[in-house]
Amino acid sequence: MSLSDLGEHALGIFGTTLVVISYFPQIKHLFKMHCGEGVSLGAYFLWASSSAMLCVYAAFSTEWVFTALQGYHALACVAILLLGAKYRNSRCPSHQGQD
Ligand SMILES: [Zn+2]
Repeated sequence: MSLSDLGEHALGIFGTTLVVISYFPQIKHLFKMHCGEGVSLGAYFLWASSSAMLCVYAAFSTEWVFTALQGYHALACVAILLLGAKYRNSRCPSHQGQD
């Protein structure tokens, strides 16, 4: 493994870590505050659908890292979609009056 390979792997690990944690703030806000402010159900539906399709494509291509990553994307988007639908008319105190 060359030094440039290590750099590429480090970028891949860093990027994957950012993707994994990027959904936490939205899911936490929905789950704890029961607030659906700013959640576009249409956008999350499209992201979940596209990620599920890309997950299947990556699996057929035996690209296991991208299969796992797209699977995570799809599941995170479905979680936000479901919580966003449940709390679409609910606002936390800091988002009340912003409509
Ligand atoms: Zn809120």
